[in-house]
Amino acid sequence: MVKIKNEGVLLVISSPSGTGKTTICKKLLEYDKNIHLSVSVTTRKKRINELEGIDYYFRTKKEFLNLKNENSFIENAFVFNNYYGTLKSEVLERLENGIDVLIDIDWQGTRQITKEMKGNLIKIFLLPPSIKELKKRLSKRNSDSIKEINLRMSKALKEIKHYDEYDYVLVNNDLDNTFQQIIKILETERLKLSRQNYLFDFVKKLNLS
Ligand code: 5GP
Repeated sequence: MVKIKNEGVLLVISSPSGTGKTTICKKLLEYDKNIHLSVSVTTRKKRINELEGIDYYFRTKKEFLNLKNENSFIENAFVFNNYYGTLKSEVLERLENGIDVLIDIDWQGTRQITKEMKGNLIKIFLLPPSIKELKKRLSKRNSDSIKEINLRMSKALKEIKHYDEYDYVLVNNDLDNTFQQIIKILETERLKLSRQNYLFDFVKKLNLS
C-alpha cells in the first residue's frame, strides 16, 4: 500500500544543564507549530515557575516506578538523584501522524531511545562555550541550592564526555546562531527520501512508463 503521510521527525537534544537547551527548545516550538515537545515524567521537585504538564509531569517515586512497570516509558534514567522518563504516549502516535517530536533528555536516555527507534532519530548535542561560562550559567539559576549546583556541575562534565554519540554537535556560543543551525539541520533531515513517504505516490502519478 502507498503511504501518503510523512512520518514525523524525532529530534533529540542533549547538553549539560546550563547550555541553553531549554531556551532553544522553546524557540523551536515558537518557530514551528508542527513540533511537539515531549513532556517527561520526573520525581524531582518542581522549580519556581515550572508547571505540571507543561515542563514535566511531576510524580512520586512510587508513581514513577508504577509507570515503569506498566512499560509506559520509551526510555528512563536516573539523573541528579531523580528519575526521569519519556512516555511512549508523548512520542509514538504523534510521529505516526506526521508530527515532529522534540525530546530533551540526557545521554543515557538517548542511548536507549536510539535502540528503541532503531536509529530513526536525529541526535543533537550542545556544548557550552567554556567550563567557566557553564559554571556562571549554573550559578545564576537561583532556584537551585549550592549543593545542587555543584552536583549539576560534576554531572555536566560527565555528560560532555558523551558528545561523540550524537549526529550533530554544536558549540552554543550564540543562542540565535545555534538556533539557526538547528533549523537548518531539521529542514535538511525532513528532506531525506526516507522521511518523504508521499513521494512514492507523487512519482507513481508521473506515469513514467
Ligand atoms: P532538569 O532537572 O534540569 O530539568 O533536567 C536534568 C537533566 O535531565 C537534563 O539533562 C535533561 O535533559 C534530563 N532529562 C529531562 N527529562 C528526561 C527524560 O525524560 N529522560 C532522560 N533520560 N533525561 C531527561
